Amino acid sequence: MTVLVTGGAGYIGSHMVWELLDAGETVVVLDRLSTGFEWAVAPEAKLVLGDVADRDLVGRIIRDNNVDAIIHFAGSIVVPESVADPLGYYENNTCKTRTLIETAVREGVPHFIFSSTAAVYGGAGLEPVREDARLAPESPYGLSKLMSEWMLRDAGLAHDIRYTALRYFNVAGADPKGRTGQSTPGATHLIKVACETALGKRPFMQVFGTDYPTPDGTCMRDYIHVSDLAAAHRLALQRLRAGGKSLVANCGYSHGYSVLEVIDSVRRAFGHDFDVRMGDRRPGDAAAVVANSELARMELGWTPQRDDLDLIVNDALAWERILTTKNSVRN
Ligand code: UDP
Repeated sequence: MTVLVTGGAGYIGSHMVWELLDAGETVVVLDRLSTGFEWAVAPEAKLVLGDVADRDLVGRIIRDNNVDAIIHFAGSIVVPESVADPLGYYENNTCKTRTLIETAVREGVPHFIFSSTAAVYGGAGLEPVREDARLAPESPYGLSKLMSEWMLRDAGLAHDIRYTALRYFNVAGADPKGRTGQSTPGATHLIKVACETALGKRPFMQVFGTDYPTPDGTCMRDYIHVSDLAAAHRLALQRLRAGGKSLVANCGYSHGYSVLEVIDSVRRAFGHDFDVRMGDRRPGDAAAVVANSELARMELGWTPQRDDLDLIVNDALAWERILTTKNSVRN
């Protein structure tokens, strides 16, 4: 049996591939390398270059490798970009996922794991959000993912396919063994931006808004270590293979950190101060987004191993240093 990982050359996908290989699985990666990197794919995995909506190619991969599960990461993930190009996002995230599900059903693949997002909830409050909270995506990105969840739900009712959709909160950090990490240039995510600033790759960084209704006035997020997220997917796979029912579950740690707390953690990891400027709010940011993750813990037996902001930041900073060396060797 083989696991097909789409988007396996990307940030979360490349961690997933290592997680599966470490557990003794056979892995095929399908990636068109639009944002991912060939070097990010573990050498023990087979890499196929191509598109998830290429029915013939995906059908062949499934048959040739005896694929029994698809873990689908491929997609576009930049919220403001989705506002500027909604149809592009619906095409890439929703339409292509529809085609991939259709191919999975046609080829008789029984298990499907889908990367969803906390963006399906819209603006949450300080209270941890449960899966049955109101679904009100505020961006085409969030809606493109929610529509995919719904397609999976309906396909699961009509066909012989069971799925798990995991709604990610703020994924950060890097492989503790330094094998992969977040490598996309021009990243906008807080921990990556702060690490880049600490290492002098950016002259300064900004705190987007200091007047939010939170304890220190800056936004709060539930940062989850990418390795714990990959572990949740591996457990979801085990559960589906054991006959578990379809499931939609949050992946976060159930507690939030403010922007200032994150920056302090990066200062501690780096050992020196760097230029941080207080700025205006970034449009579209909710004050706080924190997961209630009881369902994942209960259903998947998920016990996070790296639930510690300093650990997440240390791994992110270590990867940022590795990336600097990689890039200077390449240039
Ligand atoms: N943020 C910030 N400065 C930055 C990047 C992010 O203050 O350079 C804040 C952002 O406003 C949000 C939080 O950090 O409140 C997390 O943002 P990120 O883009 O990492 O993830 P999001 O929650 O938007 O998906």
